[in-house]
Formats: sequence, structure tokens, C-alpha cells
Amino acid sequence: MKIEKICVVGAGTMGHGIAQVAAMHGYSVTMVDINQEIIDRAFKGIKFSLNKFAEKGKFDANKIDEVLGRIEGSTDLDAAKDASLIIESVPEDMRLKQEIFKKLDEICPPETIFASNTSALSITEMASVTNRKEKFIGMHWFNPPPIMRLIEIVKTIDTSEDTLNTIVELSKEFGKEVVVCKDSVGFITSRALQAFVTECIRILEEGVASAEDIDKAIKLGLNHPMGPFELLDFTNGIPVIFHAGEEMRKVYGERFTVPQMVRMLYYSGRHGRKSGRGFYDYTKE
Ligand code: NAD
Repeated sequence: MKIEKICVVGAGTMGHGIAQVAAMHGYSVTMVDINQEIIDRAFKGIKFSLNKFAEKGKFDANKIDEVLGRIEGSTDLDAAKDASLIIESVPEDMRLKQEIFKKLDEICPPETIFASNTSALSITEMASVTNRKEKFIGMHWFNPPPIMRLIEIVKTIDTSEDTLNTIVELSKEFGKEVVVCKDSVGFITSRALQAFVTECIRILEEGVASAEDIDKAIKLGLNHPMGPFELLDFTNGIPVIFHAGEEMRKVYGERFTVPQMVRMLYYSGRHGRKSGRGFYDYTKE
């Protein structure tokens, strides 16, 4: 199937980056969010990123206006009705995502493909509220979308070959590498990351080593670009691992039990850099 127009629902951290990638590759894109302020911020973020690419010689500065001209913003979900692909990127909440897909199912033509950028939630459960299960797929991007190279594509037992091939080809056209996996909570990357960071937090909780030394060991000994606590603080990831851990424990059992420390950081609002504190203190920066 040929994708003509793309609609990204949710223009936050991930959504506006996804819109940018699609527009950079010649697609008309509509970003839908709940208010104009967020849409304006999304455009600002895209402009900033395009300028950075141009400064580094990775994008032609003369084409920035052309790319921006391909993107529209709207606060009305009806703006999605003429898109051939929807990429949903609203907060990680199954009820919210289902509510949006249910509405989209009513307003979009039957051939429109629905993709979710969820990090961990079941694509099959999300698709269950629509009448287009064969046109439903997971398209898991990484942060920031214009830079990260992978898209993890998640197919359900109902996803058609045509839908899968269309999304694989489109991802490649975007210059991304792809992996395809079967629908299962956490897919490949979020499940592996959850297990890894959970164990690092247990090492910290047991007093085996300090957060600084665990980060240093993982970076220098295991050659990760960031230590687990730096990564979680950088991505404001405490709420994510709190909710994802609860979900994964239901499916995979005790090994995904959320550590006490994550609960405390979550409920005290120490979610990472954006909130001033996470595992580390950023209030003096
Ligand atoms: P975010 O909070 O930055 O953005 C979500 C956006 O959705 C917000 O702008 C919000 O206003 C908007 N929104 C909420 N309700 C809406 C509605 N009814 N209609 C339209 N827009 C609505 O979140 P994010 O970090 O961009 O995450 C979005 C999704 O991407 C989540 O499912 C998350 O798990 C996934 N994800 C996040 C990352 C990451 O590193 N942040 C990486 C990969 C995948």
C-alpha cells in the first residue's frame, strides 16, 4: 500500500520528532494534540532540530522551510480523516490509546493503517476496540526519533502481510533499521531494558555499590554510552519503569517486581532531570 499522508496523534517528545522525520522524507504530515500551545512548541522543536542538522552539515539549510511547510498542526482529531497512516504517540495509557483509536476507526477510511508508538503495551489489546485488526501494527521509535536508528515493528496475529510490508518499507525509506517482533508486553527492547535497569536498582538497593560507581562500571566495563541511572534521569524514566514493571510482572512474573526505590522516587515526584531530581540531584545545575 502506498502511504500518502501521515497523521501523528500526540505531538510531545516523540510525536513531533516522528513528524519531523516523515516531513524530511517528503511526506505531508498533520500533528494532532490537545492544545495550540503544545502544537506551537512542537513546531519550535522541529525548527530547532532542523537547524542543528543543518549546522552539522547533515541537512540542506535551504530545505528547512520546505520541510516545515509540509507539516500542519491541529487540535481536532478530525484532521486525521484523510491520512493513509496514523502514528499514535500519546501517553502510555491503554484506556487513552483505545479511546483515541476507537474515534479514529469511525472517522478514517477502512484502508488507513493504524500504528502505535507504545513502548510496551499490547498492540493486540489496543487494536481490539477497532474494526481493522489486520491494519493495526506497533511502530516503536526511539528517542530522539530523528537521530535514533532503530524502529521496532510489532505485528499481532491479525496484522496483515501488506500492513507489515508497508511499515517495514516506510521505516527503511526513513533511513531506519528495523526489527520485527511478535506482539508481547515490552517487545524486545523495553523488556530487555526493564530487566537490566531493575537489576541495577537492586544492586544499588542492596548497598553493593553507589549509583555513581554502578553507572561508571556499566559505561566503562560494558561499553554502554550511558549508565542506567544517568539514562533513567535523562529520559525522566521513573514513571515509565514504574508502570512498565507493573505490566510486565503480570505477564512474566516476580522477576519484574518493581523495586521499592522506584516506588519511592515515583511517588515523591523525583522522576529525573525534568523534575530536578531522580537518582541524582540536578537542582543546583
Ligand atoms: P509526551 O507526554 O511527551 O507526549 C504525549 C503527547 O500526547 C502530549 O503532547 C499530550 O498533550 C498528547 N495527548 C494527550 N492526550 C491526547 C489526546 N487525547 N489527543 C491528542 N494528543 C494527546 O510523551 P512521549 O514521551 O512522547 O511518549 C508518547 C508515547 O511514545 C508513549 O506511548 C511512550 O511510551 C512512547 N515512547 C516514548 C519514548 C520516550 O523516550 N519518551 C520512546 C519510545 C516510545
